Amino acid sequence: MSKTSPERGGATSAVHAGELRQQEANAITTPIYQTSTFWFENSQEVIDYQEGKSEREEYGRYGNPTWRAVERKLSELEGGEESVLFASGMCAATTTFMALLPSGSHLVVTSDCYRRTRQFIDQFLCRMGVEVSIIEPSSTEAFEAAIQPNTEIFFTESPTNPYLRVVDVPAVVEVANQHGVKVVIDSTFATPINHMPLRDGAHIVLHSATKYLSGHNDLLAGTITGERDLVDPVRKALGVLGGIIDSHGAWLLLRGLKTLAIRMRSHNANGQAVSEFLEQHPKIRQVWYPGLESHPDHEVAARQMRGFGGVVTFEIDTDLQGAIRFIDATRIPYQAPSLGGVESLIELPVTMSFWDYPKEERAAIGITDSLVRFACGIEDPDDLIADLEQALERV
Ligand code: PLP
Repeated sequence: MSKTSPERGGATSAVHAGELRQQEANAITTPIYQTSTFWFENSQEVIDYQEGKSEREEYGRYGNPTWRAVERKLSELEGGEESVLFASGMCAATTTFMALLPSGSHLVVTSDCYRRTRQFIDQFLCRMGVEVSIIEPSSTEAFEAAIQPNTEIFFTESPTNPYLRVVDVPAVVEVANQHGVKVVIDSTFATPINHMPLRDGAHIVLHSATKYLSGHNDLLAGTITGERDLVDPVRKALGVLGGIIDSHGAWLLLRGLKTLAIRMRSHNANGQAVSEFLEQHPKIRQVWYPGLESHPDHEVAARQMRGFGGVVTFEIDTDLQGAIRFIDATRIPYQAPSLGGVESLIELPVTMSFWDYPKEERAAIGITDSLVRFACGIEDPDDLIADLEQALERV
């Protein structure tokens, strides 16, 4: 059982945390507060609110009771003080970086990273006067060596995208704390059911809630959770930058989160079964899945995580045309970017997420023509394996 609060496990928190039992008409579910603003009874109420004497909503860009329920649920799931909800995972990352990295500061980031996050770091943060160092995900020594007097943040995914590298969070936190560096973990691929980075000492955990947290391939959202002192400036920046989720999207996320624990059980089981099947298949060159002993970070993952998720990356022993024949022959997964939903998704990074990279750059990060990313949904594992098996016959 994954304990998200001292009292209860992750499945219970996913269902009950953040929900107020005192809803109008004794409704069980939290309503969608479809309003752009919130009225005050009189001027004294306005003044009390401004002086911090009352807690309530003011204007839709600063908060909405439907999002608050999501934020409370997530705080309990991640074991953190406070959470903030955003319009997308990218919005969570960009707002967090802009709020916490002043001009003249330094960021350390790992190389295996969602490419739009990297694009923001390379193209925008540099323009804002932030220095950046890029290191290998598995090397705590490289992290320590990269730290400068002006280093503010170490940012990494864990597991990473697409090679599912797992960062030893307690080890990097120990180093970071010696140097006053804040550790921000993009835990999208893990979810709090599989890993709780804050429990390992990380300062902020970030999610593309578009993926497992919402879980149904039907919305975009992002979140951060952490200590109040760190999260509050990010919330204030969101109020200025304005990348907020609408209340209907927040409600869908709240609903999706209730089944997070049981969905993750299924994603984890499918990821393990599919990766073991692929690893013994003669047409497969290599499989990357942290639940396999052959994965470079298996030992760290086994120590740190309670499950390894649904994403499996593998390389087929073929060329681009062979890989295209394979992917076009699959019948269950949709060929689409993204991951973490109930429907399995499959993509060839070379034709999808890394299409606009020059060939040499793709090669440098190991994106070959026959690399496949398979994001297992919650279908029956035997059906997924049978589908992959028949599609591999086309190679
Ligand atoms: N972080 C990771 C690990 C991702 O894979 C993605 C998107 O694929 C993002 C962040 C960005 O999230 P979003 O698409 O919700 O903006």
